[in-house]
Amino acid sequence: MFELPPLPYAFNALEPAIDAMTMEIHHDKHHGGYVNNLNKALENTPELQNRPVESLLRSINSLPDNVRTAVRNQGGGHANHTFFWEILVPGGSKTPSGSLANALSSSFGTFEDFQKTFSDTAAGRFGSGWAWLVLDDKGKFKVYSTANQDSPYMDGYTPVLGLDVWEHAYYLKYQNRRPEYIKAWWGVVNWDAVAKKYNAAK
Ligand code: MN
Repeated sequence: MFELPPLPYAFNALEPAIDAMTMEIHHDKHHGGYVNNLNKALENTPELQNRPVESLLRSINSLPDNVRTAVRNQGGGHANHTFFWEILVPGGSKTPSGSLANALSSSFGTFEDFQKTFSDTAAGRFGSGWAWLVLDDKGKFKVYSTANQDSPYMDGYTPVLGLDVWEHAYYLKYQNRRPEYIKAWWGVVNWDAVAKKYNAAK
């Protein structure tokens, strides 16, 4: 069965970028709900319960019809949020360094060019969804957006950086001002964690 991972910092640790109440509801209620619903959906398919959620998402098209939508939505929600908590840290680490920084520069121009592409993608997602920096199966960077809880693993990609732009991620503090949330969020990105994900995936 799948479990809600504990948040690796306090609810108020990311303030002022992300407020404590948003973090508590987001982690305990939203992420917790995806985990509970995923477990309920897989109650009668024990052979799927022991597979990592990333593996289920990578093979979404070959899953049984009666669980595919639940894995897409609830499993995607579980994977996306687990990833999201891992790439944030109080205070952030400002900018990437090393091989990740070099790879971003050669793919996008300057780091600021990459940030603008990513921010515009996040701001431009209509409705609920995510912005992603991913590696494709050839090890090339791509910035794109997914709707709802659709996961990059479903597209054959490996996520390196992701931003939740569902209203539940920012509405209490930012209301309709999604671009302000995106701007503040850059300040709590854990580039060391992002570099680890990049180095493991490339
Ligand atoms: Mn969320």
